[in-house]
Amino acid sequence: MSAETAPHILVIEDEPAQMELIRYNLEAQGFQVTQAGNGEDGLIHMEEILPDLVVLDWMLPGVSGIEVCRQIKRQKHTRKVAVIMLTARGEEADRIRGLDTGADDYVVKPYSVDELIARVRALLRRTRPAGVGENLIVGDLALDSEQHKVTRNGTPVKLGPTEFRLLATFMESPKRVWSRDRLLDRVWGMDCDVDYRTIDVHIGRLRKALKQSGMPDPIRTVRGTGYSLDTE
Ligand code: CA
Repeated sequence: MSAETAPHILVIEDEPAQMELIRYNLEAQGFQVTQAGNGEDGLIHMEEILPDLVVLDWMLPGVSGIEVCRQIKRQKHTRKVAVIMLTARGEEADRIRGLDTGADDYVVKPYSVDELIARVRALLRRTRPAGVGENLIVGDLALDSEQHKVTRNGTPVKLGPTEFRLLATFMESPKRVWSRDRLLDRVWGMDCDVDYRTIDVHIGRLRKALKQSGMPDPIRTVRGTGYSLDTE
């Protein structure tokens, strides 16, 4: 798995040994991992990185895992992110089944790491990238992620692979402001050697391709912050 396409997983777990075990094994499988030791931090990371999947412990100090899950599933822009809950054996597992938390799957502690990773992979196949085979439509823009085709107002737009990924990223979360660091992380992958200027060059190419036949520029520069898609 290349860093460019490595799914980003947010792990929210308050027990350091558990966290270390999960992080180590996910990274060994090529995933990008962000850690949070409590629900509040988890929700902040959720907004910042918009991960592909969340591994969420049920028993957390402060905001509980259930509440974190509910908040993720309540917000329009995070609703599609897959959530796997970690629960203790017995009552909790029964309760989670009966509760309307919106969790996509759950794993009962003590679990084997192989089992957790198998569940992670299964869920990612279902949910990434932003619905394979699903058409993203924002304003007059349409993106077919399976066929790698983009149209604006029905007219095909030719994009290079990097511009395509940039646009897909913007269209997954319209109006969200993306910092250059987040775009780097999302479009190029964490471990690459790309500087801000390169991002600006690709944004320039994307803009040029989208502004065909005098149409307005849908990419907004947010001064001192980054970029966002605004088709209105
Ligand atoms: Ca815990």
